[in-house]
Amino acid sequence: MQIGIPRALSYYNFYPLIYGFLSDLGVEIVLSDKTTKQTMTDGSALVVPETCLPIKVYVGHILNLLDKGIENILVPSVQSIAPKIYNCSKIRGLPDLIRNVIKRDFNMIEATYDKSEKNRSSIDFFKEIAGKLGITDLARIKKASKNAWRVYNNYLVMTRSGVPYVQAVKYALENKVVLAQNDTTKPVNIAVIAHGYNLYDERISMKIFEKLDKLDVKVFTAEQLTPEQMKEGLNKLETRLYWANEFEISGAAGHYIQDKKIDGIITINAFGCGPDSLMVDRITRYAKELKKPILNLSIDEQTGEAGFVTRLEAFVDMLFRKKRSTIINKIDINEQQPPQPRITEPKVRVTMEDLVQKM
Ligand code: SF4
Repeated sequence: MQIGIPRALSYYNFYPLIYGFLSDLGVEIVLSDKTTKQTMTDGSALVVPETCLPIKVYVGHILNLLDKGIENILVPSVQSIAPKIYNCSKIRGLPDLIRNVIKRDFNMIEATYDKSEKNRSSIDFFKEIAGKLGITDLARIKKASKNAWRVYNNYLVMTRSGVPYVQAVKYALENKVVLAQNDTTKPVNIAVIAHGYNLYDERISMKIFEKLDKLDVKVFTAEQLTPEQMKEGLNKLETRLYWANEFEISGAAGHYIQDKKIDGIITINAFGCGPDSLMVDRITRYAKELKKPILNLSIDEQTGEAGFVTRLEAFVDMLFRKKRSTIINKIDINEQQPPQPRITEPKVRVTMEDLVQKM
């Protein structure tokens, strides 16, 4: 049994969970290739231009799987992740969108996750996937579901300890738990705020982690925060949780903006994304209020790497200069003066009589 998984959208949030489930059932997983310019071009050709980049990329990944000859492809419909917390309409209606734009024959494995209207738990979601693969043995599904949560929780423990995303996924799939040991320090700390599918797709984010590392910047992301820290961040922004991704965007931003060790914030948002435009606007206002430097990068399939790098470098350079001047201003000039020579009493006192004798 083989199932294709597009390397896009929910892949970047939940792949360890899906992997833990399907591998326990003995299903072979085939991932689409990493995003390339071609993936974007192929996906963009099938949807209306106003569609956000992550959806165009998702369509491109389905085409990539079809080109590989994969017949079963998992296309989840993640409606709501908690009571009254919804995904955007494009993610909710993903199977319908794919059915309407891709006119090629394949078996779409649809499964709905909905904690609001239908109050479906994760086991219902897993049962639906397994059922479409012809597996109905409940004990087997429950065992696989347990394994799914174990792998996923290991992944969460690692990312929260500071293990970078790519390594955390790799270790989780290998059934390992490795915690970050080296807490390296760098001259400048930046929090990068974005959806996982924009941030960890190297073509969409243009390898931002690598670029910031070369610029001697330490990067912080939402994955390093606990739900409590993100909740407290949301409260700082005085916003009510509505969108499913609001935790990782508004919550993480609210937390990092008031964190004194963070020198600046970078947001990456997709052009044409309704929820992002609302969240980023609120984040920017709060950052300005607290005088935290912020750079908003909006991306689409036309975004050029040269312009992206220039803005990144200029922002980092400004943060370095700001930090340097803050340090210089803190130095007390009086403390830095060289010690004054001490005037001491001569050991041999010259009296008037000595002087008269010398004359
Ligand atoms: S949240 Fe925004 S970027 Fe993500 S799929 Fe919806 S519209 Fe696109």
